[in-house]
Amino acid sequence: MPAPGGERQRVTRFAPSPTGELHLGNARTALFNLLLARGGGGRFLLRIEDTDSERSLDAHAVALMADLRWLGIDWDAGPDRADERGPYRQSQRGALYSRYLAQLEGLPATLRFRVPRDERVVFEDFVHGPQTFLTDDIGDFVVRRADGSAAFFFSNAVDDALMGVTQALRGEDHLANTPRQLLILRALALVAPAYGHVALIVGADGAPLSKRHAAVSVREYRERGYQPIALLNHLFRLGHSTALHGLLQLSEMARAFDTAHLGRAPSRFDEPQLRVWQKEAVHRLPAEAARGWLAPLLPAGLDERARDAFIAALLPNVVLPEDARPWVDIVFGGPPPLEPAAEEAVRGAGAGYFSAAAAAAATSGNDLAAIAGAVRAATGRSGASLYMPLRAALTGRMHGPELAPLLKAMPAGKACERLARFA
Ligand code: GLU
Repeated sequence: MPAPGGERQRVTRFAPSPTGELHLGNARTALFNLLLARGGGGRFLLRIEDTDSERSLDAHAVALMADLRWLGIDWDAGPDRADERGPYRQSQRGALYSRYLAQLEGLPATLRFRVPRDERVVFEDFVHGPQTFLTDDIGDFVVRRADGSAAFFFSNAVDDALMGVTQALRGEDHLANTPRQLLILRALALVAPAYGHVALIVGADGAPLSKRHAAVSVREYRERGYQPIALLNHLFRLGHSTALHGLLQLSEMARAFDTAHLGRAPSRFDEPQLRVWQKEAVHRLPAEAARGWLAPLLPAGLDERARDAFIAALLPNVVLPEDARPWVDIVFGGPPPLEPAAEEAVRGAGAGYFSAAAAAAATSGNDLAAIAGAVRAATGRSGASLYMPLRAALTGRMHGPELAPLLKAMPAGKACERLARFA
């Protein structure tokens, strides 16, 4: 598929205004631009649009960059990594803007762009197709504020041209800005990028995604323990169709990304689907990452063997770290209350069952096979009727993570005590 933007080396950019946290919608825009560049051997730029000094905060820019890096969205040139087309913070590009503003008129006051009358601005949006705007519908607009600084339409358009951007892929809220930006670039004889506008992300009720529906900032997902690759997989499929199944790595997404597969209709953010990706991502966590992921929940001073056994038991059963919290209490806290079915299983097994179990626990360490073997010998039980009362007495529940590693994680003596109380 020939890329929109023609024969030049592909250059894309993410151009956030640092006025708040990185939201899912913007994170998706950044991801799509990264993939568009990577898929075509091109370059991906990060440009901080901080000309609105009242609303822009450096702290937001710093946090935006940290969130992008956490997601694995890395740029070839940006504020921290300028090249000959930089600097990449608009607040540092004032002199450049003045030079181009001077070409338009030049008086040190608010400068409005005089929109030509009775013309059509026609362009091909590489998501939405051909677009036509009538200049008579576009009023003259400010390109230089009274304080001499360049206004959004101007700095955004001029920077795309000066930075050699070939495709500007951005949110649909900017579609109506495009004719103004094309008029500015035409007046300055600068080369415009191809523009494409991705549809909004909406919540389950079809309204634009907001705090009412779900957490919207990347930070919140990070803090809740979501894996970046899970978030990326959900964002990749929001408004972009793909035949590929399963959890994809960024490189696979880059090979598969195609602007022709970008939908024109809004796409629905779906937290249950995100949790499916998260579950897959957690299952694939390497041991060291899994340790880091659950570490904040674990009791201080836990020995390595117990920690690793606990993580091995829990990892297949949890989506978020908070799901492990009840099991931290069960395994490392006081004797858990028994749920009714567990109570029944324990009563049914009887005192002889538990005296054999407690005796074996005292001598075998927390070894499930040894304890079950002793109980089998004493009672003749097998299968569920052998194992269920053990699980019930040890955890208070009838279901849960695999029992052998859970038992291994329990402090010595605790298992024995829990079994002995029913002997
Ligand atoms: N600073 C603009 C925004 O954050 C960028 C628009 C664009 O990508 O052209 O909405």
